[in-house]
Amino acid sequence: MKRIMIGVAWPYANGPIHIGQVGGCYLPPDIFRRYHKMIGNDVLMVSGSDQYGTPITVTAEKEGLTPKETAEKYHKINSKALIDLGVEFSLFTYTMNETHKRVTQDIFKTLYEKDHIYTDTMETFFCPDCERFLPDRYVIGNCPECGQKGIDGDQCDECGVLLDPTDILNPRCKLCSGTPKVKESEHFFLKLSGFQERLEEYIEDKDYWKNHVLNFTKSWLKKGLEDRPISRDMEWGISVPIEGYENKKIYVWFDAVIGYLSTSIKWSEEGRGDWSKFWKDPDAEHYYFLAKDNIPFHTIIWPAMLMGYDEELNLPYDVPGNQYMCLEGEQFSTSRGIIVSLPDILEDFDSDSIRYYVTTIMPEVKDTNFRWDEFEEKINTELVGNLGNFVHRVLSFTYSNYGKIPDAGELDERDKSILNEIDEKVDAVGKNIQSRKFKKGLEKLLQLSRAGNKYLNDKAPWDMIKKDKKAAATTLNISLRIVKAICVAGAPYLPHSMNRLWTYLNYEGSVHESSWDEAFEPIEPGLKLKKPKPLYEKIDLSNMRAKTQLMDSLDKLDLRVGEITKVEEHPNADKLYVIRVGLGDEERTLVAGLKPYYDKNEMYGKKVVVLANLEPATLRGIRSEGMLLAAEDEEQNIVSLLESSGYIGENLKGTEASAENIPFDHFKKYDLKTIEWRDEKIWADRTLEPVESDRFEGVGVGILKENKCVILEDSEGVIRLDKDLGVGRPIR
Ligand SMILES: [Zn+2]
Ligand SMILES: [Zn+2]
Repeated sequence: MKRIMIGVAWPYANGPIHIGQVGGCYLPPDIFRRYHKMIGNDVLMVSGSDQYGTPITVTAEKEGLTPKETAEKYHKINSKALIDLGVEFSLFTYTMNETHKRVTQDIFKTLYEKDHIYTDTMETFFCPDCERFLPDRYVIGNCPECGQKGIDGDQCDECGVLLDPTDILNPRCKLCSGTPKVKESEHFFLKLSGFQERLEEYIEDKDYWKNHVLNFTKSWLKKGLEDRPISRDMEWGISVPIEGYENKKIYVWFDAVIGYLSTSIKWSEEGRGDWSKFWKDPDAEHYYFLAKDNIPFHTIIWPAMLMGYDEELNLPYDVPGNQYMCLEGEQFSTSRGIIVSLPDILEDFDSDSIRYYVTTIMPEVKDTNFRWDEFEEKINTELVGNLGNFVHRVLSFTYSNYGKIPDAGELDERDKSILNEIDEKVDAVGKNIQSRKFKKGLEKLLQLSRAGNKYLNDKAPWDMIKKDKKAAATTLNISLRIVKAICVAGAPYLPHSMNRLWTYLNYEGSVHESSWDEAFEPIEPGLKLKKPKPLYEKIDLSNMRAKTQLMDSLDKLDLRVGEITKVEEHPNADKLYVIRVGLGDEERTLVAGLKPYYDKNEMYGKKVVVLANLEPATLRGIRSEGMLLAAEDEEQNIVSLLESSGYIGENLKGTEASAENIPFDHFKKYDLKTIEWRDEKIWADRTLEPVESDRFEGVGVGILKENKCVILEDSEGVIRLDKDLGVGRPIR
């Protein structure tokens, strides 16, 4: 018996988990855990919601909630979604818990006392318009390493570089789009440079790590480790436990990785086992599952923190970090609205079907793509057509002709060779799971059911039974052995359906409590079968496609034609206008950063598009009650208002168009301002982009999602831009 500790990257509680993350870091550890339990190992698997840091406060501000409310809301949603998917933890907790706070502060304090943490001044961004510091995600801009636009201030998802607060190029305040100033502030730094040699030694024997994980880690070490700031000027988070600095908060990644240890301790405190057996016994192996953006935190920073804190604690044995799973060619992004959320997809599809497809495209060595048409095809041809079909043919034929598991008579060569194949394939499934090659393991399982189908066809017991019932019984007995082997070896991958299958075979308890070796055992004759039902259903996505959420999104946007009746300069800001807009039955005040682009007189009397159901926001002391839609061409530095010729107060309509109708080359990626409010998922995020099309006159405005688009229209036709751009973004 071995002890296996599995740490799973902590999902930010700022939105629902998306399907890319499922393939990247939630499904692999669950398969791994289930397998290790079945081979008799003692497994501790921990994770929880990451509830601190700017991802939470930014979302909370957008949703009109407190950070605590946002953190609790998404913790609840994500815990439920993971359970529904069958991902089971020893403990899935959250960083707001007391044990976590205590352990985090203790580690911080200990590292400080041992001189692994020191204070220094640091330059940070400060927004003069918003009058506040702008940590991490309050700043957007361009990546200094790879040039990617619209990245967050703390890390580039594209190339993985971690940024110090003022590294980002072309920085802008996420709250007001203004340009932040640099201010000095005193902060705490983790002395990573002091761990350089020990970390080099640590990775010396890690040649079994995935190439990209090892290379990434080595390249960091090669560059020489830099000390990293680990405190922030913000209110939300765990306080720095050093006298005089209590109003500073511990940076979120520093506390999140501690979650693995604190959750293990909490698990002990709940009386469920002894954490130290997993953390202090040098024979216990620690595995950390995560996506590539998290690699340095787990191969460099967390090991350094552990080394500095307590030498007795186990370091990561393997960090099988995955690459990214993208959506139809685009990187998933909660903040940009490119997402298939786990709760949503679970509403429409069976959890094991989702697990199946996601496993087949797990990004183990390179980026992969989630494609809806491939999802449909793989479920229908492989899971239903191959595995499900084999199991159901065997069970239903045996059930209706024998009602129980029939006796095997004498075996011929064909029978013996298929029995060998069971052993060989089940063994291969196990070995692949053990070496974190989950995709390959599943392929082996499918090969077994394919072999089963072939065996059944070759033997044709439906013919045989008319002449020789005994020989047919032998074939079915052996076929049922294959079914049982699939059930056991498939249990880590397809936990719900394999457990159903277990009950059809009339075994007691759960397949997850059975031993892996059960797959190699003969099947007991005489056991009564239960009436089987097909394990899986075919998927028909044509309904789904019709049921696009785009029009729903549009319905949630209250877009109205407004007339500009007054434009004044904002008394406290250089770039802002205070604009009065008539909406027919009401007038509103909007604050918009249009001064660099429009003369006051140019705007007066114009009929524009107003997003009217946005949470009001106060911009430098003046309350803005909506948003004017405009498009921006960053390269040429032109901003163009959307112009309507409809009647004032009119609600805009939308017409859905699909990719075939729109030349999508016209879309460019921009770091678009998010348009979201309470609980609503609005795809307008990287969207509301003007679309040029031969099919539509002039310039339409599209809400883009996947390969669909809604063209906005007023009663007179399409909405136009008053300056010619082609692409753009909405601005407040
Ligand atoms: Zn600002
Ligand atoms: Zn980059």
